[in-house]
Order: sequence, then C-alpha cells, then structure tokens
Amino acid sequence: MRIDLVSVFPEFFDVLDLSLVGKARRRDVVDIRTHNLRDWTSDVHRTVDDTPIGGGAGMVMKPDVWGRALDDLIGPSAPETITLAIPTPSGRPLTQRLVEDLATRERIIIACGRYEGIDARVAEHYRGHGVRVEEFSLGDYVLNGGEVAAVALVEAVTRLIPGMVGNPESLVEESHGAAGLLEYRVYTRPVSWRELEVPAVLLSGNHGAVARYRRDEAIARTAARRPDMIAELNTSQLDKHDRPA
Ligand code: SAM
Repeated sequence: MRIDLVSVFPEFFDVLDLSLVGKARRRDVVDIRTHNLRDWTSDVHRTVDDTPIGGGAGMVMKPDVWGRALDDLIGPSAPETITLAIPTPSGRPLTQRLVEDLATRERIIIACGRYEGIDARVAEHYRGHGVRVEEFSLGDYVLNGGEVAAVALVEAVTRLIPGMVGNPESLVEESHGAAGLLEYRVYTRPVSWRELEVPAVLLSGNHGAVARYRRDEAIARTAARRPDMIAELNTSQLDKHDRPA
C-alpha cells in the first residue's frame, strides 16, 4: 500500500518514523510519502489560500494549487485505484469499518486542509473523475488542521496490513472488532497494587472461566459506555450464555 500525505506542515508527519509505522516503513511493508503543498504553488509567496467567495471569516485553500498537487501524485495511476481522503469536521465519522475498508485500497492520498478548509470543487472534481473521495471526520470537534486526523487514519489503516502488528492475535479481540463490543479491562503484574487486586478468575488458569469473565466484562463495559453499540449487536454476535448487561 502507498499513502501520500499532503500538508503545508509536512513536519507534522515526522511521528510516522516512530514505533510500528516507522518500522513497517523501513521494512517496506508500507510506502508512506509526505509532501509540502507549497511545492505546487506558482508565485513567490508560495500562496495556498485566498479569501472566501461570498464573504465570511478566514481563508480558503485554493483549488488550483491542490489540483496541481493531486494530479502530480495520481500520475498515470488509474483513478479507481486511488482513494482521496480529506479530513474535515463535516465528514463521515472515521470508524473501524471505514478503516477496514480503506486498508484494502492500493493507494490513499490524504489532503490536509488548514484555515477554513479546501475549496469544495476539489472533492467534486476528483469524485467526478473516478477517484474514490472520502471526506472523513475524526470526531465532533474542530482541529486547526487535518494533519492529526491524517496521522490517526494512517495508524489505524496500517495496523491492519498483514505483517504490521507482531502478533495478529492482538487484532482479533480489540474494541470495535467483529464482536461489536469494547474490549474487557486488562491487567498485568504486580497482582496487588495500591490495595487494588487483579480479579482472582484471571489467575485461576481456567481458560473457559477467563473467557466467560472477559466476555461478561466486555458486555457490561460496552453497555455502560456505549449503549449505542449494544443496540446494534445482532443475534449472530451473541452467545447463549450472554446475560443482559
Ligand atoms: N470552518 C471549518 C468547518 O467548520 O468545517 C473548520 C476548518 S478547520 C479550522 C481546518 C481544517 O482542520 C479542516 O479543513 C480539516 O482538514 C481539519 N479538521 C478540523 N477538525 C477536524 C475533524 N474533526 N476531523 C477531521 N479534520 C478536521
């Protein structure tokens, strides 16, 4: 998979040299390239924004600069092989389902907006030319720019690429996985810490009892924190020993 990130602050993406993503890049498991949008400007001031047509506060990112950048990055690739991901607070929420879908794509280009965002015709143009355009939101709050959302997308998507996570078992029981539940609480040594004990069942060595305890925990936790997820469970995700939370 190849991921291109475009921003006026490409230094934001230095974090993608660290940890699992950095390791995967060095092992060529994923090809991540970062770009400065200003490299596609054509004036001495390297201007990427202009005032909003129709009035209003702030500045809007220019479609001509974005168009040159994106045309160059798409290059000779077939448009249908490209996903153009545009972070925006008015986008579709970035969920694990969307992440799983994006993890199957050949190429993702992430266009990071600043100021009041990117001229709306950019998404419209590429959508009209066969590129899959995903306007996505990290959550119901407003950030200063799309870079943090882009890094979140890269971490979540690359985590699913085979070979990325050392032990693929860790992906199976995670929150927001096939079970449709949040993960159970986790513990490690010491068994006793500040008068708080690890639940005895986890020390029992009884794998069946541990599995049941963890499932009950996951259901109770999901019911308390995310009742919307419980409401969406279907019968195939329940087992006959599940108790109502
Ligand atoms: N006035 C814009 C609005 O209300 O939609 C907000 C623009 S925001 C200050 C600048 C940029 O930050 C956006 O273009 C987008 O790239 C990014 N951004 C802000 N909040 C975001 C969120 N919740 N999810 C994804 N991107 C976000």
